[in-house]
Amino acid sequence: MLEEKKVVLPGDFLGTSEEFIPGEGVYDDGGNLYASLIGEVSIGPSRVISVHPRVETPPVIEDGDVVIGQVVDIKDNVVVVNIACVKGKERREVAAPSQGIIHISNVRSGYVTELRQEFGYLDVVKARVIDAKTLRLSTEAKDLGVIKAICMRCKSDLKRRGNILSCEKCKRVETRKLSEDYGKGIV
Ligand SMILES: [Zn+2]
Repeated sequence: MLEEKKVVLPGDFLGTSEEFIPGEGVYDDGGNLYASLIGEVSIGPSRVISVHPRVETPPVIEDGDVVIGQVVDIKDNVVVVNIACVKGKERREVAAPSQGIIHISNVRSGYVTELRQEFGYLDVVKARVIDAKTLRLSTEAKDLGVIKAICMRCKSDLKRRGNILSCEKCKRVETRKLSEDYGKGIV
């Protein structure tokens, strides 16, 4: 059973339209309700279920912290990530929304030539803060990288097959800098 205040990722299944009425941050796909953003689940009166973003109240971010965020832009040398929460500090509040940057040299231990092979638009990533002042992030460690991704063609969840991701619906294959925690939710 779904708990209130649980942190969910975009595309996470929340319940059916028989159980709940979709509210903010929730979409209905054929009677199944899914989160459309990273946030906390709340169930209101008359069974309205919604997901509230935590971007407006991020905690203090320090060097070494592990953050969860969503890719909002991919440029030639950097990936821009909207930070949604900091692991272990979920309840602390601070001002200002936070955008982090993953530079092409901090993606993985090997050499990266094309960032679009490592990240996709709206991917959910887990990254370590290497400079809290400029919010520079790194995904070099095994547990860091993309933890959830959707198919660029049909928007279905991508499933991990070894080192690649594949779409069960349209058979598209994509590559990412994967976290070993891909597909496990926020851990
Ligand atoms: Zn697809």
